Amino acid sequence: MSHLFYQTSQRRPLLDQARGVYLWDVDGKRYLDGSSGAMVCNIGHSNPNVLDAMRRQMEKSTFGYRLHFETEASEQLAARTAALCPEGMNKVFFVSGGSEAVESAIKLARQHALAVGQGGRWKVISRSPSYHGCTLGALAITGYAPLTEPFAPMMRAMPRVPAPRAYLDGLDPADPATGAHYAAMLEAEILAQGPDSVLAFVVEPVGGASTGALVPPVGYMEAVQEICRRHGVLLILDEVMTGAGRTGRFLALEHWGLSPDIVVLSKGFAAGYVPLGAIVARDDLVAAVLEGGGFLHGFTYAGNPLACAAGTAVIDEIARLDLVQNAETMGAALRKRLDGLAARHPVIGDVRGLGLLMAFEMMADHDSKAPLPAHLNAHQRLVDIAYDMGLIVYSRRTRDGIEGDHIMVCPPLIVGEQHLDEITDTLDAALTRLADELALSEMA
Ligand code: PMP
Repeated sequence: MSHLFYQTSQRRPLLDQARGVYLWDVDGKRYLDGSSGAMVCNIGHSNPNVLDAMRRQMEKSTFGYRLHFETEASEQLAARTAALCPEGMNKVFFVSGGSEAVESAIKLARQHALAVGQGGRWKVISRSPSYHGCTLGALAITGYAPLTEPFAPMMRAMPRVPAPRAYLDGLDPADPATGAHYAAMLEAEILAQGPDSVLAFVVEPVGGASTGALVPPVGYMEAVQEICRRHGVLLILDEVMTGAGRTGRFLALEHWGLSPDIVVLSKGFAAGYVPLGAIVARDDLVAAVLEGGGFLHGFTYAGNPLACAAGTAVIDEIARLDLVQNAETMGAALRKRLDGLAARHPVIGDVRGLGLLMAFEMMADHDSKAPLPAHLNAHQRLVDIAYDMGLIVYSRRTRDGIEGDHIMVCPPLIVGEQHLDEITDTLDAALTRLADELALSEMA
């Protein structure tokens, strides 16, 4: 009998140890971590240099309350993080995870509006589908009905715009008119809401768990930034999943040369070694809030020196092992292999992603883009079959959480070709088994 509980009563094997891209359960079975946990373990498991840095910090201090002490570890990580962000973004606020970071970004934005005499701005526009966290503030801007609906009466309703799922709408993502079409929806929403009431637009530069590695159409991100600027709406980039090298740049915003107002980081930022997240904000934005009386926000564990020492060591390892470049190279190699799988398995309807944030969507019919029937729970079935075969991948139901199945293939950024072969071969076998099962269920 376990005293633990998570989302469901489903039990998983006991983890024994993890090294590099592999994990072993207590029975000695090996699993290839094809999703880096939940797109977290970007530098692989048990990196000895990170463990050494953590050990050194632990021997010095593991906790110093931020109102009593500053620490070298948190100062150092803040400086290293700011140096990796666009010009003029030098102010870093630490938290312990992605939801906390999103909450912090929204509250900082609101306090900035108050500080500059724009107290009428409070609406935060986000996209549907999207995922920004499970705490009530972050959930209020999450576009994923199955997760939000039970709590709707407890949250302020916030406006949403459609995520740019060009493949579903039959539009060409390489056509600048497509990006302009979706960006125009943001502008229309800002105008409909009344620009003076809109505080911020929160967006994942490449869609994560809710959309399955949705890459924006050409011109979309640049247009969105321009629209936000023109209407005085802050642009908050949720790089919780895309940050720390995942898409082949340290931050995904580099793909489009964006300069947002706030960047949100977690997951790969400490790569699973400790709970850590951060927001990085424009200097003038933070200055206005501090001059306006201070930021009314903070978590007890914020800036924890052990977490910060691990974070700095992770950034060091990303640089030392050239993992941003490897994410780009291996991402291209993985895409080729997934395209190969799509050619053999008709159930794969779309392969997409950037760097090592890759996914494929399963569909019943390529032309109509009809999803597989929801009752088949095909995405979970494929995940379970692959898991039995020793490969971990991550899945969600997409399309507003109601229908459609996508599988995320996002291994640690340290992968080599041999790991990609292992991932593809196992997926190939798992997809074959799934096809047999689906054929059987059709006959039943
Ligand atoms: N934002 C994004 C884009 C995420 O992918 C996630 C986690 N999946 C979060 C926020 C929330 O992070 P956490 O689970 O660490 O609270």
